[in-house]
Amino acid sequence: MSLTHRRNTRPVLVGDVVVGGRNKVIIQSMCTTKTQDVEATVAQIHELEEAGCQIVRVAVPDMEAALALKDIKAQISIPLVADIHFDYRLALQAIESGVDKIRINPGNIGRTDRVQKVVEACKAKNIPIRIGVNAGSLEKKFLKKYGYPTAMGMLESAREHVKILEDLDFHDIIISMKASNVELALAAYQLAAEEFDYPLHLGITESGPLFSGSIKSAAGMGALLSLGIGDTMRISLSADPVEEIKVAREVLKSFNLIDNAATLVSCPTCGRIEIDLIPIAAELEKYIANIKAPITVAILGCGVNGPGEAREADIGLAGGDGKGMLFKKGKIIKTVPEEVMLEEFKKEIDAMYKLYQET
Ligand code: SF4
Repeated sequence: MSLTHRRNTRPVLVGDVVVGGRNKVIIQSMCTTKTQDVEATVAQIHELEEAGCQIVRVAVPDMEAALALKDIKAQISIPLVADIHFDYRLALQAIESGVDKIRINPGNIGRTDRVQKVVEACKAKNIPIRIGVNAGSLEKKFLKKYGYPTAMGMLESAREHVKILEDLDFHDIIISMKASNVELALAAYQLAAEEFDYPLHLGITESGPLFSGSIKSAAGMGALLSLGIGDTMRISLSADPVEEIKVAREVLKSFNLIDNAATLVSCPTCGRIEIDLIPIAAELEKYIANIKAPITVAILGCGVNGPGEAREADIGLAGGDGKGMLFKKGKIIKTVPEEVMLEEFKKEIDAMYKLYQET
């Protein structure tokens, strides 16, 4: 059984990546480097891409950063997003520099002629705009109306920004409704999903450091994905952004919403354990991290439940009694001594991945 993912969102093209209108969720992250440091930013984008990032965002706080985007864009292959607050001149320069999307709230740009200039520039280059509603920076009038950030206040804010763009006949819109409070984010995203057919970019913003932030993000985004909501996502962690990609991939695997990642099944171990499974599972987790194929790999620690579980995976290993039984597509392919079972298993994983790449 797989989830019914919201299919009716309007497809929006970000560079060569389609966001929305499909049953897959695009993974994004944001650079932590200074954007004007082109070398460091490009290096970080390459690392993120290698980890599975599909769209990358950079902060554009000033003109130096906006100008640097051109050099960055020339050296990367995934779509580049400029994150801009208020200043329409930075937006215009970012567009001129060749970015694939801008994140700016049109209602914060100011005069209508300035908004118009940005929208016309986006139209001319087929660049979408992400409206980023954030509970932490909700406009004063909505805070006054509701007393504090509420889902309805966030929806009303989104409505206003969307209307500005629609009135200018601009529809390449992506919307985010971020909050660090999971319940608030859930409510805001659900309201947005009911109201708009534009793709939604999911985020539990400022969710925290690697461990707690990953769990909080997974809880929030998992709840939304289980409702079929979300076309693109960013895990926001106080950590190396590569970790954000790893977490996002794990979340999407849980919902079968990613087709270029391998999944590891490993047993929790118990009193029946016959091999030193925990370090082996950790090593395998790292080993399969760069596999860009939907292969399920299983490692189980005894001959009681192990073989049954290992059979279910595409490729499995059940250890015990000084040996390891290797399974492929439900059948035992060989039994090897425990000392060499991990190396043998890795060879079989490599062979399966190679076959997948060739077919
Ligand atoms: Fe215990 Fe075996 Fe199950 Fe692992 S597979 S948890 S060792 S019974």
